[in-house]
Amino acid sequence: MAPPMLQESYDNSGLLVGASDWETNGVLVALDCLEEVVDEAIEKGIHLVVTHHPIVFSGLKRFNGKSYIERVVMKAIKHDVALYAIHTNLDNVSWGVNAKIMEKLGISNHRVLLPMRGALKKLQVYVPAANAEELAEAVYTAGGGKVSLYEECSFSTSGQGTFKPTEGTNPVVGSLGKRETVQEVKMEFIVPHFAQRAVESAARATHPYEVMAYEWIALENSTDLFGAGAIGRLSKDFNFEQFLAHCKSVFGTTIRYTAPSKDKVETVAVCGGSGSFLLGAAKASGADVFITADYKYHQFFDAENDLSILDVGHFESEQFTIDLIADGLSKKFPKFAVLKTEVNTNPIQYY
Ligand SMILES: [Zn+2]
Repeated sequence: MAPPMLQESYDNSGLLVGASDWETNGVLVALDCLEEVVDEAIEKGIHLVVTHHPIVFSGLKRFNGKSYIERVVMKAIKHDVALYAIHTNLDNVSWGVNAKIMEKLGISNHRVLLPMRGALKKLQVYVPAANAEELAEAVYTAGGGKVSLYEECSFSTSGQGTFKPTEGTNPVVGSLGKRETVQEVKMEFIVPHFAQRAVESAARATHPYEVMAYEWIALENSTDLFGAGAIGRLSKDFNFEQFLAHCKSVFGTTIRYTAPSKDKVETVAVCGGSGSFLLGAAKASGADVFITADYKYHQFFDAENDLSILDVGHFESEQFTIDLIADGLSKKFPKFAVLKTEVNTNPIQYY
């Protein structure tokens, strides 16, 4: 759903408590991992809790139960409940947290607001022409060859490869001490960094030679498959007032907002959770409104007259993430019990 390698450097997504060989008969999904959520898992006899926010974010130095974080970890270990977090990696996939918000807003025509850089590599591999198709198939299956929404992308050039097997080799083609010239194909594939190892071993498994000739190249390209936030166009006409009402019904909460720059709302940028770092990108992309959370008083002034900031609350902006995770898990494991928490983990109440 969201490879852990796509998480931000400050994040702590992944398996936080438990070992990967523990067994569970179901999974409990929540936004936050509170003691009540672990209690709920214990009560329901479930041994895995998957949350968006990681319960452990910075280092823990002692376990005496004085903070709720320590108590959660101690209780989880005591009752064999594994804790897994799928946080900024789920923010950073184009089908993740922000796509879900867009779906709830009724915006189907959207893309990543700030495409990610440094997540792509290029594989160049030299293979006899007769084996090229099979190798490409293996690379695609292992997650390579994707460019934006296009799959099975490759480029190939024909040429001649030479090699001289020396003592200790066991060549498929050619003989010891003699230079061999073979008609080969150079195949090139774009591969996301998290699929690098899988793609390399898949290619190696189909390559006929004793030693595969290949290169990995780091790319500077950004990709719209991964990145922060989302931006899209409304398919219906809204004036600002109507759009506020629409947001209120979608997020079900009180909205703090800055004055609109124009009366019509056409282009909408979103970032679930704390999104103030994306204000510049939202403005540069021509958004009329920027829906996010955790805005401070002085930060609201940064809207200038370029767009309107709508702060809908952190929990409220990410409330649909529970469905997103649960649906993703149910699809992947249709015969597995996927439960959504009955605990409201939002620590903020409104008077
Ligand atoms: Zn969050």
